[in-house]
Amino acid sequence: MVSQSEIQKRRTFAIISHPDAGKTTLTEKFLLFGGAIQTAGAVKNNKIKKTATSDFMEIEKQRGISVATSVMGFEYNGVKINLLDTPGHKDFAEDTYRTLTAVDSVILVVDCVKGVEEQTERLMGVCRMRNTPVIVFVNKMDRPGKDPFDLMDELEEKLNIRVRPLSWPINGGPDFKGVYNIYRNNLNLFNANKTSIERDIVSISDLQDPQVDSILGRDAAKIREDVELVEGVYDTFNKEAYRKGEVAPVFFGSALNNFGVQEILDTFLEIAPSPLPRKTSERMVSPEENAFSGFVFKIHANLDPKHRDRIAFLRICSGVFERNKFYQHVRLGRTFRFTNPTSFMAQEKSIIDSAYPGDVIGLYDTGNFKIGDTLTEGESFMYQGIPSFSPEIFREVVNADPMKSKQLEKGINQLTDEGVAQLFTKQPGNRKIIGTVGELQFDVIKYRLQHEYGASCTFHAMPLYKACWITSENKTEFENFLRQKGNHIAYDKDGLPVYLAETKGMLDIMIRHYPDIDFSFMSEHN
Ligand code: GDP
Repeated sequence: MVSQSEIQKRRTFAIISHPDAGKTTLTEKFLLFGGAIQTAGAVKNNKIKKTATSDFMEIEKQRGISVATSVMGFEYNGVKINLLDTPGHKDFAEDTYRTLTAVDSVILVVDCVKGVEEQTERLMGVCRMRNTPVIVFVNKMDRPGKDPFDLMDELEEKLNIRVRPLSWPINGGPDFKGVYNIYRNNLNLFNANKTSIERDIVSISDLQDPQVDSILGRDAAKIREDVELVEGVYDTFNKEAYRKGEVAPVFFGSALNNFGVQEILDTFLEIAPSPLPRKTSERMVSPEENAFSGFVFKIHANLDPKHRDRIAFLRICSGVFERNKFYQHVRLGRTFRFTNPTSFMAQEKSIIDSAYPGDVIGLYDTGNFKIGDTLTEGESFMYQGIPSFSPEIFREVVNADPMKSKQLEKGINQLTDEGVAQLFTKQPGNRKIIGTVGELQFDVIKYRLQHEYGASCTFHAMPLYKACWITSENKTEFENFLRQKGNHIAYDKDGLPVYLAETKGMLDIMIRHYPDIDFSFMSEHN
C-alpha cells in the first residue's frame, strides 16, 4: 500500500532553459544544497559545442555520464527531490519535450541580459500544452541586464503566461545589492563570489523598516517604489493559479554566485505540486491507488556495445513499484519482471527494491520498450500525452549493404523506438523516411547502425517542409484526400497517416482546399 506521506514528500521536476542561461549551474547549486555532491564542478554540462561528427564522438564518450545524470535524486529538508535532466542541444529537443511529460513542474531559467530566447519559447510551449506549473528564475543578475519590469512584460508576452514576481532585485550588474523577497518579506543581500552556502538574510518588519535605509542607503527609496509598483500591477500570488499553470512566480538571482538559489529552492518545495493524478486512455489514475502503474518516457541506448542493453526510464504514477514482481506490459500484452531496477541518486546508480509515485527508475531492456509504453499490475490502460512534433529535416534511408538488410531494418526500428528520430513509411516500395529536428541525429543513426547493428546506409535528402498528422470527421473527404494525395502520404510508426508538405505554401493550399481535414504539427503517442 502506498502511503500518503511518500507521495506528499516527492517533487519531480526539470530545469529548462535556452543553452547558456545557467541551467547546469543552477542544477549544481541545488545538488550542493541537497548534499548530493560536495564540490562545484561535479555536474557535467551536457551541451555539445563542436561540429557534427566530433560531437557525436563526444556523446559516445559521455554516455555513461549522461545516463547517470539523467535523473538526479536527492533529499532536502525531508523532501525527496527528483530532478530530471534535459539535453541542452537543440537537436535533442524532442528528448526534452518527452522528459517534460514525466515531471510535475518545471523551473525555467532566463538570462537577464538576453531575456526570452528561442528555445525558451519552444520549451514553454510544451509546458503550456500540459498546464505544467512553472517557476521562473531570472539569472545572471550580477551582469547589467534588461530592466526587470520590461523583462516581466517580455515573459508574459512571449511565453503566454501571467507572471508574479516573488522577489525583486535591488539594482543589477556591478551595482547589484541583492533582492527583496516579497514572499517572505526579507532582504537577501548579495556578496559576489560567495562560495559557501550560508547567506546574508536580513529580517525586516516591512520595507518601511529604518534598517532598510541603513543597509541600502540611497537605494532604499527605489526598492520601495518598485515593490509598490509590483504590488499594484500584479495580482496577489495565488498558489492554485500557479499549480494550474496560469501564473508563473518569478525570482531573481545569480546561480554562479549561489545567490537566490536557496530562496527559489525553499519556495519551490513549499508551493510545487507533489505527484498528481494523470490521464490514461481509460480513466484518470491517482497516485494513491494501490496498484502500481507507470510509463516509459525515455530510452537510453547501449552502455556497453557488447551487450545490446538499453535503459528504459519509467516514471511511476501510482502504487508502489517492487523489484522482481511481474508487471503487465500493456502494449505487448505480456508480463515482465525486473531483477535489477535502478534508481539514480545524483551521480550514483543503485539497485532499488521499491519506488513510489514521482520516482523515476531505470529498467534494463533488451528491446521490448518503446517511448510511451505503460506498465501496470494487470489493468489495460495507456498513459497519454507524450508528444511527437513534426520533424524538420527529412531523408530517405538507402541500404548500402544488401546483405545486411535485416540488420538495417531492425536497427532503424529500434533506434526510432528509442526516439532518436521519427520513422515514416511511404508506399509503394516501403520507402523509409527518417525525420529529425537536427542534422546531428543522422550522424548518430549512421554511426549506431554501423557499430551496434553492423548495417550501413546512406541518406537521400528529401526537401520537405513538414510532416502533418491528418485527421478528419468527414470519412469520405479523408479517404479522397488519401487517394488523391497518395504521393504525399506516409505513415508513422503507429500507422497514423501524415501529409508530407513540400513547402509552407503547398500546405496552406491544402488547408484551404480541404477544410474538413485537420492538419497538425503534433501527434500524441498512444
Ligand atoms: P546552461 O547551458 O543553461 O546549462 O548554462 P551553464 O550553467 O553552463 O552556464 C553558462 C555560462 O554562464 C557559464 O559560463 C556559467 O559560468 C555562466 N553563468 C551561470 N550563471 C551565471 C550568473 O549568475 N552570472 C554570471 N555572470 N554568469 C553565470
